[in-house]
Amino acid sequence: MSTLTDNKQSLKGGEFIIKDTTWQEAYIPEEITDEQRAMRDSAKDFIRTEIDPILDRIDAQEEGLVVSLLDKAAELGFLGLSIPEEYGGFGADFNTISYVFEVFGGAHAYSVAQGAHTGIGTMPILYYGTDEQRAKYLPKLASGELKAAYCLTEPWSGSDALGARTKAVLNEEGTHYIINGQKMWITNAGFADTFVVFTKIDGDDKKFTAFILEKTMEGFSLGAEEKKMGIKGSSTRQVFMSNVKVPKENLLGEIGKGHKIAFQILNVGRFKLCNGVLGGAKRALDQAVKYANERQQFKTPISSFGAIKHKIAEMAIRLWTAESASYRTSGLIHDYEQALHHSGAGLTEALTGGAEEYQIECALLKVLGSEVLDFVVDESLQVYGGMGFSEEAPMARAYRDSRINRIFEGTNEINRMLSIDALLKFAMKGKIDLLSPGMAIQKELMSVPDFGAGDENDFFAAERKALKNAKKAFLLVAGGAVQKLMQKLSSEQEILMHAADVLIDIYTMESALLRAEKLRNTYG
Ligand SMILES: Cc1cc2nc3c(=O)[nH]c(=O)nc-3n(C[C@H](O)[C@H](O)[C@H](O)COP(=O)(O)OP(=O)(O)OC[C@H]3O[C@@H](n4cnc5c(N)ncnc54)[C@H](O)[C@@H]3O)c2cc1C
Repeated sequence: MSTLTDNKQSLKGGEFIIKDTTWQEAYIPEEITDEQRAMRDSAKDFIRTEIDPILDRIDAQEEGLVVSLLDKAAELGFLGLSIPEEYGGFGADFNTISYVFEVFGGAHAYSVAQGAHTGIGTMPILYYGTDEQRAKYLPKLASGELKAAYCLTEPWSGSDALGARTKAVLNEEGTHYIINGQKMWITNAGFADTFVVFTKIDGDDKKFTAFILEKTMEGFSLGAEEKKMGIKGSSTRQVFMSNVKVPKENLLGEIGKGHKIAFQILNVGRFKLCNGVLGGAKRALDQAVKYANERQQFKTPISSFGAIKHKIAEMAIRLWTAESASYRTSGLIHDYEQALHHSGAGLTEALTGGAEEYQIECALLKVLGSEVLDFVVDESLQVYGGMGFSEEAPMARAYRDSRINRIFEGTNEINRMLSIDALLKFAMKGKIDLLSPGMAIQKELMSVPDFGAGDENDFFAAERKALKNAKKAFLLVAGGAVQKLMQKLSSEQEILMHAADVLIDIYTMESALLRAEKLRNTYG
């Protein structure tokens, strides 16, 4: 029997489709350390004591309530988890952040406010800020003195984010950029102090550039709160900029490199979305199981009916497999990040390299996680029957709050297409060799098929064989589509959607298998 120790993995982004991974290489959630568990428990306590009792007041957007909760979270260190110690944060590693972030995912609308502040609001400055920008903003973002928002989407550009019209022009003195434009669906807008805003300098498509704006800047104003279907407690407003004068020192990153910031933030955001929805799905399932054990019909707890048992089992299976894929990816990104830190890479490269490397996995996880959550809240609501439809039980809120996850951080359609697009780009750049394994499979098809079940001493032989076959089927079919359609493949969206679904299934199957193997080989 071995122990759960360091994972020496070498699997690069997207390579899961052509390479096997051993269970020793896969990170699993059971590898949590005592320190991580303590932080996770403290997050659970925070939600139990501070958030759960006032969910209705949060959803009613009671004045100042979410801000005061963010301040309390800051006091406990939750807003500065990812911020390095030199900037007043905790400097937690990627896996630690995953454990804590998962718990906050169960905090309904509050989780969106905190996630937007610590994620899309803070990360651009952490990743791409100059030393001065980091020193100016990060300590205050960690302490909660400043709250953050991120402004990419516009009324006319959502999925097509680079179609933004917000324009920045350098003034004659060369000291300030004058920004005009409008942003839409901005989370935390109602109370945020800093806004990372994406613009085009001189309206030039090649000069897509980010700036840090502050709400006190003249010409900066907000629309009314959007009336939303779910996550009602999260502030969502439009942002208007009319001749806002922004010091040129507030330009974030480089001119014309705003898309890099936007996409990098989305890569990490997609991973985190999956990570967070696990927390929401676990809560819904726990509540459904409790209700099913308490609720009696026909003088029998409904949990003893096969139909209800089947629902609970199906939810647990999907959740466990999504959790396996999410923590496996967390481990990959963590190891990549640590390797970059140890190699002396700069902060930007060290913090963004992992999510960029595993961008395919992040896109797949975003789709997987959001669809598992939707399944779980839907079936949990069904377990509650009529009470599921009542605002007195927790499921109506869970059901409403879940739905947004398939829309933001890139819609699931966009993420499905992205995953295949990135895989093909990796192949074209020679980063992944899809051709050789594809040709090997074609050769194998011409020979006598292998009818064996695999190594009989291997407990997971059947599962391993099914996985191998699934990978072969993907390479064969996707390879056929590439050969037949060539450049036209990118516009054959029905094929891309299905291909992405197969990729998701394969990554999830493999992650679940590796976790099961690791648990069996570790604990017997
Ligand atoms: C509650 C909420 C909070 C948000 N928070 C923020 C925030 O803080 N900051 C921010 O910048 N943005 C935020 N957003 C915006 C969010 O990221 C966008 O709504 C999302 O990217 C989709 O853009 P859209 O709404 O314009 O939909 P559209 O892009 O118009 O898409 C409509 C439909 O068409 C599909 N579609 C679009 N293009 C294609 C294509 N090429 N091929 C196939 N299908 C396509 C989409 O998948 C979708 O189903 C938020 C949105 C909401 C609702």
